[in-house]
Amino acid sequence: MPGFTPGRRWQPPFYPFKREPFRHRMLARVERWVKGPLWGCRMCGNCLLQETAFICPMECPKGARNGPCGGSTSGHCYVDETRPCIWYKIYERSFAFGREHKLLEVLPPLDWDKVGTETWGDVVLQARKVGTRNVVKGMLTRDAAQRARTWDSVFRPVRQPDWWQGDAEYHAPAYTEPLSELERRLRAGEFVVTAEVAPPISTATGKLISNMNMVRPYVAAVNFTDNSSATPRMSSFACSTLAVQHNVEPVMQIAARDRTRMGLQSEVIGASALGIHNILCLSGDHSRLGPAPLGRSDIIDLDSVQMLWLLRRMRDEGHYLDGRKLKDPPKLFLGAAASPFASEPRFQALREHKKVNAGAQFFQTNLVYDPDGLEVWLNELAKRNILDKVFILVGVTPLKSLKVAEYMHNEVPGVFIPEPLRKRLEAAGDGAAEEGVQIALELIEAIKGRQGVHGIHLMAVGWEEIVPRIVTEAGLLPPDFVQPETVEAVKTLS
Ligand code: SF4
Repeated sequence: MPGFTPGRRWQPPFYPFKREPFRHRMLARVERWVKGPLWGCRMCGNCLLQETAFICPMECPKGARNGPCGGSTSGHCYVDETRPCIWYKIYERSFAFGREHKLLEVLPPLDWDKVGTETWGDVVLQARKVGTRNVVKGMLTRDAAQRARTWDSVFRPVRQPDWWQGDAEYHAPAYTEPLSELERRLRAGEFVVTAEVAPPISTATGKLISNMNMVRPYVAAVNFTDNSSATPRMSSFACSTLAVQHNVEPVMQIAARDRTRMGLQSEVIGASALGIHNILCLSGDHSRLGPAPLGRSDIIDLDSVQMLWLLRRMRDEGHYLDGRKLKDPPKLFLGAAASPFASEPRFQALREHKKVNAGAQFFQTNLVYDPDGLEVWLNELAKRNILDKVFILVGVTPLKSLKVAEYMHNEVPGVFIPEPLRKRLEAAGDGAAEEGVQIALELIEAIKGRQGVHGIHLMAVGWEEIVPRIVTEAGLLPPDFVQPETVEAVKTLS
């Protein structure tokens, strides 16, 4: 285990893509000899140790560089149970040493031209640009603010290249009129419901279309998951396109797991051109959760925070990541996942704060079964002054059986189902599905008046026909609701 990183072991480093000059190779070797045993450095070429409490984030098997995923806990990493969640350790140490503000800066994705090379040479070059005398003078002054400015003048340009320029500030959307129907309803103060419709596992679209048509009158928008549980299905893009063709408002989920920076940019431009404007940026379940064989698992090209930062800048500043101008930028209402029950509420709140700063305009939360626990998390968000900057839709799933509840509680990262609820399902026996509906209705009742909550996100997980009944009995029918005449939809109300 590296000396100052409470991780697992010193993992193999990255190596440069191309042959570097001799002096750079020597410097890289020295850097690796020093930083490897001490911090478990993997030679990513853009060192973040100062921002991450001197724990190398590259030990995270997802390669997340901007904070934990929604499955982070104080115990072990959900991808690999033999190691701790390195991001939990980073947060723990940062809070203990009062360095948590450093975690808010949106850090860039890897520049693969630099991966495997040294960072020290860049620091020396930048110090020369600032002026060696100025650096020495600035660092020896008694004025702490001046010392911090000097330090930043050397290190910030190294970690924030021109093509990224991340910061720790909130950036309000640079447009006025709502870009989607979902955004219009949320801005109008409507308490909205969104619902998930599972993409099919084949090319047959009949069930998908009948499900989306069935839930359409009851909800503001329909979410299409993107290979959830790391298991391939019809793409979220295709489902969202079909939704637009059937006058259904889609929320297209995009998992970072399956995208490169290039693929992401081209996909959102295409989506916007086809009338898909609600985009939910996710890290995505790790391929460890999917069927064998295990896909490449050591690194993702972009994490969800970087996706938000990149897409917000495409929309508001009108350029690609490489700086090329976009004449007609994509129109994107950007969302992100929030995880009130992963790790600790104060840690999660910091993570959500960073997402809001990066560009998240709405959150759809992981499943909530404990309204009091939700309140603790909301209070942490309130302390960070972000409740007025983001719309929050709380995730609710009706539990169809005790088996489903046990699976979710034990296997799905970031989900917590209190024991009394599981006991109720057990006691209900054959009536567990009805008990699950009653639990969902009670949860919605307990959640809907809370500060900062703007709606409910129903994740029926293959039980879409229950959505109309829950929305109706919870008293959440939209203002423009018209009773559907289709037999299918009416049947489900009984
Ligand atoms: S739990 Fe998530 S954030 Fe933590 S180390 Fe594992 S993959 Fe990374």
